Parts: sequence; C-alpha cells; structure tokens
Amino acid sequence: MSSAIAEQNARESTSPLLGTVLAVQANFYRVRLDTQETNQTKCLDVDKPLELLCTRRMRLKKIGVGVMVGDRVAIEEPDWAGGRGAIAEVFPRETELDRPPIANANQILLVFALADPPLDPYQLTRFLIKAESTDLDICLCLNKSDLVTGAELSEWRSRFTSWGYQPVFISVLGSIGLEELRERLNNKISVLAGLSGVGKSSIINYFIPNVNLRVAEVSGKLSRGRHTTRHVELFELPSGGLLADTPGFNQPDLDCVGEELALYFPEIQQRLETLRCQFSDCLHRDEPNCIVRGDWERYEYYLDLLEEAISYQEQLHEQSDADASMKLKSKGKGQSKYEPRLEAKRYRRTSRKTQHQDLQELYKEDPDL
Ligand code: GDP
Ligand code: ZN
Repeated sequence: MSSAIAEQNARESTSPLLGTVLAVQANFYRVRLDTQETNQTKCLDVDKPLELLCTRRMRLKKIGVGVMVGDRVAIEEPDWAGGRGAIAEVFPRETELDRPPIANANQILLVFALADPPLDPYQLTRFLIKAESTDLDICLCLNKSDLVTGAELSEWRSRFTSWGYQPVFISVLGSIGLEELRERLNNKISVLAGLSGVGKSSIINYFIPNVNLRVAEVSGKLSRGRHTTRHVELFELPSGGLLADTPGFNQPDLDCVGEELALYFPEIQQRLETLRCQFSDCLHRDEPNCIVRGDWERYEYYLDLLEEAISYQEQLHEQSDADASMKLKSKGKGQSKYEPRLEAKRYRRTSRKTQHQDLQELYKEDPDL
C-alpha cells in the first residue's frame, strides 16, 4: 500500500491525527502535527500545541517497527494539556537514508562556497558522487557569490551545467539568490551537506530565524555547541518544507565498486541514454568502441576515481579471501578447494534502487549517528 493511500485510510479511521517526526530523543519522538489536513473539530484549537512529545506503542515495538526522523505517523490518545501522545502507526517510507538516519528525504542540499575556501572541483565531485549514490535528488548550492566576479560566476554556471546539474548561486551575506533557494526547498525534506565554513549555519539562520534561540538552549544545557549536537533533527522552514541539520563532516571516501561509479556521473548517463559501448561491462577506460571516453571536463576525474574504486574493490576482495581461507582452514586438511579469484569486471552492477542509501562517510566524524 502506498504511503498516500495508507495516510488517507488513517485519516478516515478513528485516529485521524497525523504528523511528521522531527526529532528522536531517547525513547521519545517529537512529532509535528499536520495543520491543514487535521480534522478541525478534533484538534485544531488555538490552545492545542502543534507538536507532541510521543512514545511508541508497544504493539509497534513488538512487530519491530522502528521510528525515524522524517517518518509520517498516526498519533493516538493525545494529551493536549501535557503535550504528549503515542505513535500508533508508521506509514510506509518513500525513501530511507541510513546515515544520517532520515526517512522520506527528497533531496540533498549540497552547499559549497565559490571562494573562501576556494572551490575545488575535484572535491566537489567526490561529494556529488556520494550524494548521487543515495538516489535522492541533488540541489547543488554555491554560496559566497559576493566574492567572485560576474564573469567567474557565469563560467562556474556553465561548468556545472555541463556536469549535468542546475546549480543555484547564492550569497547569504550579500542577499543573492535566496528566494530561488527557498523555492527549491519548498515543501520538500532536504538534507544539508557540505564542508564546514561554506555557510551552512548561515543558511539555516537565514531561513529559520528563531533557530538561534533553540541552539542557544541546547548549548546551554549540554555545554556544547550546535556542531557537536549528536542527533539528527528536522527544522521547519516557515515557507513550508523541512531541513535536516547535520553535524560537520569530512571529505567523503569513495566506497563504491568500479562498475557503479559511472552511475554517479550524469554526463556518462546522458551519453549512455542514446548510445551503447561495445561491451556491456565497459568500464570506459581503454576498451574499444567506448562511447563515454572523450574530452568532457570530468572524464579525468572519472578515471582517477575509477582507480580508487577498483582498489577499494580489491581490498574488499582481499578481506573476503582472508575470511574464506579462515573458513577453509577450519574445515581441516584435504577439504579445501581452490576458488578462482573473480576478475574486477565480473562484479554485478548494484542497482541504484536496491542500494544501501548511505551518506555514512560524510558523517564519519560523528560516531553516534
Ligand atoms: P558552516 O561551517 O558551513 O556552517 O559555515 P558558517 O555559516 O559558519 O559560515 C562560515 C563563514 O562564512 C562565516 O564567517 C560566515 O560569515 C561566512 N559566510 C557565510 N555566508 C557568506 C556569504 O554569502 N558571503 C561571504 N563572503 N561570507 C559568508
Ligand atoms: Zn565505455
């Protein structure tokens, strides 16, 4: 059953209180109730809170239904005075990210600065690949437009367009492009990503003016700053939509295998839409009649990252060989069989749909996530 149909059924049933989980804290879930859709007579009362701190019904625990930030849920037994409730149902997820753990995200808002720190297209490519591997949409946002000339800006624009992206150029300090960005975030769940110093906090503060207050509260209580906050949390955009604030992170490691890499370059996918390489398992390196090889800007990056992906693959292999030989040893003498080592190209391509959606490497500085 689709999420929309399940929600419709719930709305018509006896528990019409629906909402979105904004934060998970210990065994409590902070749930933002829908306003437009909620039944006026039952709960839309000015005195009633828009958020309830909820527990999860034992029944859900028993059947192993977990609750994530971003989940759409139905609430039972609201205690309006105490601001409490209980989650009775979790609706099917449209998407699911493992790290950071967020359900129903629509897009990754990847923020880079055009200057200060200087934009490194190779580093940006690594972030884009990590973001592409989640299968969510990508909103590429370039901040600090105030620090570059108009000519530099249009050069970047045409480069990113040739990479297959529709970038949005902004400057939080210079008030440039912020309305366009707001539109791109409208009514979506976006996950903010990018190195520190590019302006992510400035973006949050601009779009969610009273967020500072909350940050100050948290810092005061736990004596830690926002950047050491361990929990994923969705912030409400006043114009509609939710933004997941995430802790600082490093340059992502590449943990995909060789054949997957091409999936994460829109330029390659565009070429393969109309033409085919001679070999169906072409790695687009030096194979004859390869239609991908060419003088497009990021081809050099592709080759470079392909080498890295292949060594990653070999490492995985060595690991599994080591595990296998341990198992063989334990079987005793004379029983071991020689298994030929698979060639790199024999790996099956992982489907983007079934792939583990994971931004883990982006968040590796934060072990609790
Ligand atoms: P974060 O680490 O990604 O959260 O980045 P911050 O929001 O803390 O910003 C890092 C620095 O960049 C701060 O000194 C900001 O004042 C500055 N900054 C943010 N946005 C802009 C901008 O649009 N233009 C310029 N020139 N500086 C900016
Ligand atoms: Zn090829």
